[in-house]
Amino acid sequence: MSERTLLLNPGPVTLSERVRRALVRGDWCHREPEFAALVRDIDARLAAVYEDLAGRYEAVVLTGSGTAAVEAMLASFAPEDRITLVVANGVYGERMARMLEAHRRPNRVLGHGWLEAVDLQRVEQALADDPAISHIAVVHHETTTGRLNDLAALARVAQARGVQLLLDGVSSFGAEQIAGHGWNLAAVAGTANKCLHGVAGLSFVLARRELWQRPPARPASVYFDLHAYHRTQHGEGFSPFTQAVQVAFALHEALAEHADAGGWLARRACYRERAARLSATLAALGVGTLLPPEAYSSILWSYRLPPGMSYAGLHAALKARGIVIYAGQGQLAADIFRIAHMGDLAAADLGRIEAALRAALGRGPA
Ligand SMILES: *Cc1c(COP(=O)(O)O)cnc(C)c1O
Repeated sequence: MSERTLLLNPGPVTLSERVRRALVRGDWCHREPEFAALVRDIDARLAAVYEDLAGRYEAVVLTGSGTAAVEAMLASFAPEDRITLVVANGVYGERMARMLEAHRRPNRVLGHGWLEAVDLQRVEQALADDPAISHIAVVHHETTTGRLNDLAALARVAQARGVQLLLDGVSSFGAEQIAGHGWNLAAVAGTANKCLHGVAGLSFVLARRELWQRPPARPASVYFDLHAYHRTQHGEGFSPFTQAVQVAFALHEALAEHADAGGWLARRACYRERAARLSATLAALGVGTLLPPEAYSSILWSYRLPPGMSYAGLHAALKARGIVIYAGQGQLAADIFRIAHMGDLAAADLGRIEAALRAALGRGPA
């Protein structure tokens, strides 16, 4: 039997057999009551992933990748008459600024270097300088480097001025802590195919209950008007447009599997264990991390390519052993590689990954 491919890229992830089997549950019409019930149950399960959000936040799912959910969140909740401050320290923060521009929402961008932590003093100063700022758009886990932004600290600064958070939680939802009212969280966007271990094609947004009651007079988009999704999904259960039916089967099963396995805390513990194991293996091979270890999320770590080793060479050597790693983006492309810890990986798979890393980096049997 050929060994299965192990995906160590930041989504889509290696599927469990349970989720894979759900994909072929049957041929369903998206306008039949059984599909409406499934979508309503997905929304309820998404809102229940975090105890802190349960009962206070309501979810909608839409067909599209994680970027679709982030753009829909900004199009639906970033105000037209106040300013959204984008706090960016990587590709995904910068992408949020582009979305606000595309939707012509008043914004300011507080840019940082990609290796920098969020500078709270600069945030505080920006909020003090401009009382028209009502929202901060920020990425929770900046997948560019693997940094977990300190949202508790950022939220304290925001909360002090009544500023709400619009959060890109695409690569953290399901595996890192997300607080609700304690963070003055307006909304968070996530996706099926990262920490929840579903299939790519569906994404979602959770927003405070009261925000759903106040749709804007003029929606900013047809497809990305989340209020329309909320009206229909939380009414009879249908969606404005055709949903990815089979992907919904898989997301429903993945959410059940996530809960059965102990929820977000258990998933974080599992990822942390994988991170510790793989970073120790790489350290023993002379491969160091890009950021200080304490800056990382549980979900993905970035490593410096050893001298004389190209990303293409390392990628090919691992791919030949059925393991897919991920390149750095933009200015980091030539210098780093990334390893994500998501997906259905057994202890034996971890052993396979370690053996492949040893072989590819020159200290193991070829
Ligand atoms: C993966 C990711 C996204 C969305 O990427 P898609 O390719 O659209 O799924 C957005 N933000 C972050 C932080 C991500 O890691």
